Amino acid sequence: MKTYQFKAILQENEWISPAFVTVSKKGKIKSISNQYKGNKAIININGYALPGFQNAHSHAFQYAMAGLAENHRVGVKADDFWSWREEMYGLALKISPKQLENIATMLYAEMLRHGFTHVAEFHYLHHDLNGEKYPKLATMGKSLIKAAKRSGINITLVPIFYQKGGFGTAPSIKQKRFISSSIEDYLALLEASKKACKSYIGANIGIGVHSLRAVNSEDIISLAKNESTKDLPFHIHISEQQKEVDDSIEFLGARPVEWILKNVALNNRFHLVHATHLNKTEVEGLATSKANVVLCPSTEGNLGDGIFPLQDFQNLGGSWSIGTDSHIGINPLEELRILDYGQRLTSHRRNIFNSKLEGNSGNFAFKMNLEAGRRAMGNYKIDFFEIGTKFNAVIYDADYPLLAETSLNNITNTILYACDSVAQLATISNGEMQVYRGVHKKKKKITTSFRQSLNELNNR
Ligand SMILES: [Zn+2]
Repeated sequence: MKTYQFKAILQENEWISPAFVTVSKKGKIKSISNQYKGNKAIININGYALPGFQNAHSHAFQYAMAGLAENHRVGVKADDFWSWREEMYGLALKISPKQLENIATMLYAEMLRHGFTHVAEFHYLHHDLNGEKYPKLATMGKSLIKAAKRSGINITLVPIFYQKGGFGTAPSIKQKRFISSSIEDYLALLEASKKACKSYIGANIGIGVHSLRAVNSEDIISLAKNESTKDLPFHIHISEQQKEVDDSIEFLGARPVEWILKNVALNNRFHLVHATHLNKTEVEGLATSKANVVLCPSTEGNLGDGIFPLQDFQNLGGSWSIGTDSHIGINPLEELRILDYGQRLTSHRRNIFNSKLEGNSGNFAFKMNLEAGRRAMGNYKIDFFEIGTKFNAVIYDADYPLLAETSLNNITNTILYACDSVAQLATISNGEMQVYRGVHKKKKKITTSFRQSLNELNNR
């Protein structure tokens, strides 16, 4: 057992200051109080503790190509999502299980450094270099779980059903590592992945479909109804690109979100990633369905996807979380700022992050992302810090000059809008301090193996 002392800790409706948090050996919260009556030594961290951020969408292997798709061919008009995807396929064809583990460990350590304590890994790189199944089906998924364990982050492994090359087309040779040809194949992979999660206390399982274009519609409908997986969070990419909307209309006779609203009984276990291109009826339908949207602002900006109609969706009661997707950015504060500022720039208004009950932008954004982000991990708890649950927190430096003279009422806004990662003092996951003053406790080892793997891949 150990006790942390913070300058203050944020609960859903109030700050507790000072704050003493006692944590069990297994990392669970035993007590939270503004006084300490014990006689054991305490760990004093002079900072403001908030719940750890939830990263609801990640493709870990893509971190190895972050920043590499920016050498544009001079004179070529359209360098867009589809040319980026070609680069990504090239990388996906080369990575070994060990290399995936090393890349993901570095990425997850970096996520912790930026305050994420949970990640939902949208994982579709399943098979060996020849596109054959590994003797142990979940070999690549196991690499991601090992990476999470080594770094100390919590992971929701979402093995992804990927069946086709596009609407009505067979998979290309470049997609050979992703493919489950039938729903039975996919469920076998899911089962093996579920077993692999048992090797780490911070791991659990979700399910997902790559996109409407990558799986037969009848299989999507059947998987969404599957009784044995009905309690798992369900993730799907949707309506990210205008071309995908046009193809969907041509092939399915409906826009992507229109189609899913009509064919799947959506509820709050569904997480629609991007959902960028929506018409008014789709926005209304989606908000009413209670399905969550996962927004990945830095990746969506980098790929030139478009801007999600956040205000209309929120006004109708829609919920959203953030993800870092391709990992061109992995700072939750930056993701939230890009999201907010994209809306401000196009609407000429400033009060984007608010609701009927909450006018404080920082409080609103942290709470919204926490609740919908937790659901993306299969966790429906809404208390920020609850006795008996694992202690996962990000702590901002109370001595950071701008924060040092700020009242509690303005702390979340100052963190969100005016601080970079230097103001971040520590990250605690499952009761353990993983990062302190910008340094992960295993930084050296993790960096060495990461660099070794990048060197082998020789793509940078
Ligand atoms: Zn994605």
